[in-house]
Amino acid sequence: MTICVVGHSNPDTDSVTAAIGLAALLNAQGQDAKACMQSTADALNPESKMVLDRFGLAVPEEITDAAGKTVALVDFSDKAQAPANISDADVVTIVDHHKIGDVTTNNPILFRNEPVGCTGTVLNKMFKDAGIDIPKDVAGGMLAAILSDTVNFKSPTCTDDDKAAVAELKKIAGVEDTEELFMAMLKAKSSVDGVPAKDLLFRDYKDFDMKGSKVGVGQLELATLDQVAAIREDLLAAMKEIKADGRHSVLLMLTDVVKEGTDLVVVSDDPALIEKAFDGKLAGTSMWIDGMMSRKKQTVPNLQKAFGC
Ligand code: MG
Ligand code: MG
Ligand code: MG
Repeated sequence: MTICVVGHSNPDTDSVTAAIGLAALLNAQGQDAKACMQSTADALNPESKMVLDRFGLAVPEEITDAAGKTVALVDFSDKAQAPANISDADVVTIVDHHKIGDVTTNNPILFRNEPVGCTGTVLNKMFKDAGIDIPKDVAGGMLAAILSDTVNFKSPTCTDDDKAAVAELKKIAGVEDTEELFMAMLKAKSSVDGVPAKDLLFRDYKDFDMKGSKVGVGQLELATLDQVAAIREDLLAAMKEIKADGRHSVLLMLTDVVKEGTDLVVVSDDPALIEKAFDGKLAGTSMWIDGMMSRKKQTVPNLQKAFGC
């Protein structure tokens, strides 16, 4: 049975390129595997599109239902972020860099999770451990993913391992200037022109269970907050709309990658709880939080504490 390698829903560049990377590694080890993603090619985020394009990587095929399939998960291990019916799938491998989620298996599997900034960094080690050369195009994708996930090394999730992986991967991929690559990605990613507010909200969005309360957290990484000045009301309306769908709170991180902080937009049943979580004060519907770059390492842990998880 072909192993479908798939990343989380609302795929980011790491989810997509790690699926390509792990599928390539499994193929090189004689296994039948293919890269998949939880998105149509059209709906893929603009940064990931640009990265696949630049390195000449094939767009992974869409998977929506995992029932009866053999799957490998990359960049997540939460059921909430999996294709439908993941409990009826045979999960044979997980490679990740997040907190351990709630996917369970009936058999022992290869499970490799490391506290590093990107799945690409873990995969780079796995290729080396296996003594297998990373194909040039695949290395380009993994390199781009590390720059994306670590926000060009600025995210608090970034580790020395990520920097070392970038140094190795850029040689394999033939990329001389990673700054140029990062800025090109940022430009593609942060382009909001003509994109509906709801699509922007879901561009990099995850739902979390906070002690029984459903909390959604989206993030837009921007070169400047000015990029969204004209569409703030539209974004707020989109947040209110999805909050009405059974959520306690919806947060949108408008992250200024250059200033290294986040304007956190909040729609909540309990705004005071969110203020407490971030030790801030909402001015209208948002608050600036200096140094906030990472949903995983800053936003979610603070929310979990405030919600008493
Ligand atoms: Mg990811
Ligand atoms: Mg990742
Ligand atoms: Mg990410």
